[in-house]
Amino acid sequence: MFRVGLTGGIGSGKTTVANFLADLGASVIDTDLIAHSLTMAGGAAIPAIRKEFGEEFITVDNAMDRQKMRACVFNDPEAKRRLENILHPTIRLACENAAEAAEGKYLVFVVPLLIESGSWLQRVNRVLVVDCDEETQIARVMQRNQFSRDQVCSIMRTQVTREIRLEHADDVINSQQELVQVQRHVELLHQKYLQMCVQG
Ligand code: ATP
Repeated sequence: MFRVGLTGGIGSGKTTVANFLADLGASVIDTDLIAHSLTMAGGAAIPAIRKEFGEEFITVDNAMDRQKMRACVFNDPEAKRRLENILHPTIRLACENAAEAAEGKYLVFVVPLLIESGSWLQRVNRVLVVDCDEETQIARVMQRNQFSRDQVCSIMRTQVTREIRLEHADDVINSQQELVQVQRHVELLHQKYLQMCVQG
């Protein structure tokens, strides 16, 4: 099935655009939601995390202890790598299962770190970047998450720059426009994607 990879920096408007596409009938697969579900109570990644990191990283209700894991991987690249070695293949498999079950005309994978991860670029037919300037991102996330400016900027530093992201884009949606204009732009893109599906 035709696959679109939707990406953008933190607070750029990915979810907003993905919701518009879902309303139009695309099958949206949100990799963040999938990743989260894998480490929740009884999630598919729990047995491997228990084996690799020990019981102390598992809560009483059989979920990953997020706080403890965050603290563990924060200053330990080796631990981060071990966690990623568990999560990445599990996320990949869960995404493929979700793709198999999808009933829309085409698939939209929402992948915040699509450019950063490399392998995702080979798994999609088209890269859609949701773009806005950095000040807009900062203002949105400060307001939405009650984060300080420094907190938002430190997250942004772990992501590729706006320029690099745009270099990989096949399509760009400017999320600085009014929502109604964003929606109109999404509708046009949806028509384009439907045509691309037919053309194979
Ligand atoms: P994250 O990376 O943090 O998951 P995201 O890229 O999915 O964020 P959204 O959650 O869609 O971004 O948008 C971030 C915030 O900006 C939300 O509060 C959303 O309502 C708002 N927003 C998105 N697009 C617009 C727009 N065009 N005009 C005004 N507000 C917007």
